[in-house]
Order: sequence, then structure tokens, then C-alpha cells
Amino acid sequence: MPAVLREGHTPPPEQFLQQIWQFQRIRRSEIRTTDGRRISVLHPGFMNLEAGPDFQRAYIQVGRAAPVECDVEIDVASGGWQQHGHHTNTAFSGVGLHVVWQAGNGGPTGLPVVELKDQLDAPVGELSQALGQAPTAPPPGTLGRCAAPLADLPPDDIHALLGQVAETRLQTKAAALAAVAKRTNWRQALWEGLFTALGYKQNSWPMRRLAELLPELGQADETVALLARLLGVGGLLPDQLDRDKLTNRYLRTLWDQWWRDRDRLAKRILPRDVWTFHGLRPANRPERRLALAACWLSRPDFVPWLDDWVCQTETRPTPAAALLGHLTASDEYWSTHWTFRSGRFPKAQPLLGAGRLHDIAVNVILPWLYARAAADDNTGLRQRVVERYFAWPKGQDNSRLRFVRQRLLGVRRISLRGAAAQQGLLQVKADFCNRTNALCDDCVFPDLVHRHSPEKR
Ligand code: SF4
Repeated sequence: MPAVLREGHTPPPEQFLQQIWQFQRIRRSEIRTTDGRRISVLHPGFMNLEAGPDFQRAYIQVGRAAPVECDVEIDVASGGWQQHGHHTNTAFSGVGLHVVWQAGNGGPTGLPVVELKDQLDAPVGELSQALGQAPTAPPPGTLGRCAAPLADLPPDDIHALLGQVAETRLQTKAAALAAVAKRTNWRQALWEGLFTALGYKQNSWPMRRLAELLPELGQADETVALLARLLGVGGLLPDQLDRDKLTNRYLRTLWDQWWRDRDRLAKRILPRDVWTFHGLRPANRPERRLALAACWLSRPDFVPWLDDWVCQTETRPTPAAALLGHLTASDEYWSTHWTFRSGRFPKAQPLLGAGRLHDIAVNVILPWLYARAAADDNTGLRQRVVERYFAWPKGQDNSRLRFVRQRLLGVRRISLRGAAAQQGLLQVKADFCNRTNALCDDCVFPDLVHRHSPEKR
């Protein structure tokens, strides 16, 4: 047992406090806030493994007030709230309960506080043993109401159900791209989808705006000319040459290009503030994403190749590998730099990781191809896209998938086959879990699962 978790050695680490909260190893019927109000934890919330509060979408009742959905932040001491900068971080504005080991000064003003120290349901040492072992059951409240009917379905039926939902997701994404194509054209719809996906969570809107401006940016054969326009209009081109020699030379090349277009595009330049850099990993900087976009844009065969790809019967080594190879590109400067200031690293790094390329293929390119086949009323081609979609290999796991898998399947080990099953899970989350609370109130998905059970068919 770690020394910090022996009796009398306080405070325990924050991770341990998170486990206590997640598994609700507290005297639940007696728990009170530091000002003496009774707390009812209707749902402890879902552990958040990304930036932001430790638990999201908890359902808490404080005293006689009505239950509220809120986030929960766990800190060792009250002062952690300010020390970690939560008081100025808008991601924490939804926190409705501060849980600490020992209360003191420096906590959030006006929020109820629960002090864990004297409200555990077992001694710290015993809890440390219990929580240190791999759980044999999910934490209470993690299973959704649909988990029980899903547990009665054989794996093949679960796959069939997720497959139906996944196809709906493909159609929904295709319809969104078709709507863009209706007001522009198919090529523009593809670029808007690709740029938005390149922006990922933090920068999808400025990236999308740049894509909308592509017709005004104009054509260019050279990648550097396109990139200069994208960085210039994006407001991402530094105007001082005070970097290392290589970067200064590169910046001068970009500025030589950008000067020619700057007046023409001046009214379109985005304020730098529209970009989010806070919490962004250096590899995901928009400059690198735009470098990749410029590589794609400068390749005349980039879009026609996609049409060929879906029609080919023999694509080696596999259709997915061929498409991912088509999306892969390198840039002399950006493959070895994170930012204009970062200095050169010795080994080239991909402009976009394999996981994001996979997501782009599944979430943008396949739906775009489907939308075009549907618009042409080409049933054969549409079926071909669907086949490619269902044959697409499984992508990397992520926190959204883990969340919904645990809600739906608990600790049941079902090997999800292919990206479509993952897409199906994400669609269940979007269509059902995101539209209700942690208690699954009014969710109709359990009824859909019931209707899918063998005896109902
Ligand atoms: S909200 Fe619906 S789909 Fe999500 S876990 Fe609860 S019952 Fe299942």
C-alpha cells in the first residue's frame, strides 16, 4: 500500500479521491456539505479524462433545492481551485459541487463544498486496497438503462443494431455535405468538410471559414503560394523575422507570396483571437494543419483520385490503406517544426496522425462519396460506398467511445468489428445519451433494443 494512503497519512492524492467519488465510497445517506446541508448524489457524473472538471453531468440535490445537473470538481484542498486556475477557466463554469479532502481557504465562492475526510464508508487503507484492484463491475451509475436489454442480445445482434445506427450516421453526415454542395458545389463541400475536420474540436470554425474563403483565395500550383494565402488570411503569419535562420528564410518566402495577395484579401483576414491555442498540443497547431491542406489543394489529382478509388475493385494493399496513403503528405518545413518558434526537430513527424486521417476518411470522405452517389441516384455506387464504410477497419479508441461503451455494455467484452460499429456507438451517444441526463430519463433507446431482441423479431 502506498505510504500516503496509510491511516493517518493525509492528504491522499487527487486520483484516489476521484476513485472514491466515482465508486461513491462515502456514507451516501449521511453526506453533508461543509455548511451542514444534506447532499443526495443521484448520479456522480462521468469521469472526464480530458481538460475540464473531473466529473461531468452529475445529478445532485443540495438541501431542499431541486436536483440539478452539474459538473463536479475534485481537489485535495479548497485552495486547488485557484491554484489550478479554475476560477478563470470557463470550462469550469458548469461546476456545481466542489469535493475536497479537507476544506480551507481559496475555494470557489458560492459553491457547495463536500469534505471527504470524515465521510468515507471505510478506512482509507481499506479503500486503497479495494480501489487499487481492477473493478469487476463498472462504477455505480455508469450503466445506462439500455445496458440490461443489450445484455440479453447476442454479439451478432448488437453488431447488427449498431450497423443500422452507423448507416444512419453515414446518411446524416452525407446529407449535411449535400446541403453545402447545394449552395456551392461538390468540390467546395468536400473542402469545407475536410477543413472543419482538420480543425478538430478547438479550431473547427476558423478552419471552416478558411475553406469557405477558398474560392476567393484562388488557384495556385505551388503549395507554398497556397499556404501563404491560408496563413495570411488566417492571421497566422508572424510579421517579425526574429527566428532562427531557416525559419527566417522560410518566412521571407511566405511573405514574398503573401504580399502579392494581401491587399486583395485584406478584408478577409481573420483576427488571431478566433484561433484556440490554449491546451492545444504542438502537433495539432493550425499552421501544420493548413500545411497539409495546402498540399492537398495543390495536387490536381486529389479529388478525382477519390472518385477512382471508390470505383476500383482491386485496391492494394487494401482500400483503406490506399486512401490513407493518398491523404498522407509531408512539407519540408512543417514536417520538422511544430510552430514558427519551436526550432527544427531531427526526425520528421506526420502533419496529421493516423487516427485523425482515419476519422477524416470515415467522417468526411466516405459520407461525401455517399452523398454524391445518392444525388446521382446511382444505387450501385452508393452500395459500393456503404461496403467500403462497413469494411473500414476500427479506429483508435477515445474517451467518447469509452464513455458510451461503458454506458451500453459495461464490462461485457464485445470486440467491436470495424469503424462502423464505433460510429454506431457514437451515434447512440449523440442521438440518445446527449439528449437526456445521467439517469437516462425518457430515453427510448432501451425500447429500440427490446424491439431488436430475437423473441420480438
Ligand atoms: S441515455 Fe439511453 S442510450 Fe444512453 S445510456 Fe441511457 S438508456 Fe442507453
